[in-house]
Amino acid sequence: MHEVSVMRNLLDIVEATADREGAEKINVIHLRIGEMAGINYESLKFAFEILSKGTRAEGGRLEYEKVDLRVTCAECSHEFSPEELVFRCPECGSGRIDIISGREMEVDYILLDEEGT
Ligand SMILES: [Zn+2]
Repeated sequence: MHEVSVMRNLLDIVEATADREGAEKINVIHLRIGEMAGINYESLKFAFEILSKGTRAEGGRLEYEKVDLRVTCAECSHEFSPEELVFRCPECGSGRIDIISGREMEVDYILLDEEGT
């Protein structure tokens, strides 16, 4: 379950931010998870419950929004969201596709101390 190591990294990042801000509590961690990031949110949440114990994020809320897969055609620059995992441009039929978004897994924002409560 690689979500555990992903969550460990995330907690390092948010703890560092909380340090910088001098915050005592991390209330909300809001993530952006790409459709193609290979992250199982339920596993991630489970990892959060375990790893956040004893940290400032304990008892905090993990939230996320899904980022749709967006690609662009290298031939005609048409931008689209593939319906299935066969990447082919619906405009010109080209298979030369670049991924714009949908692979990311990042912290969008966090809320500290009294913010957002
Ligand atoms: Zn095209």
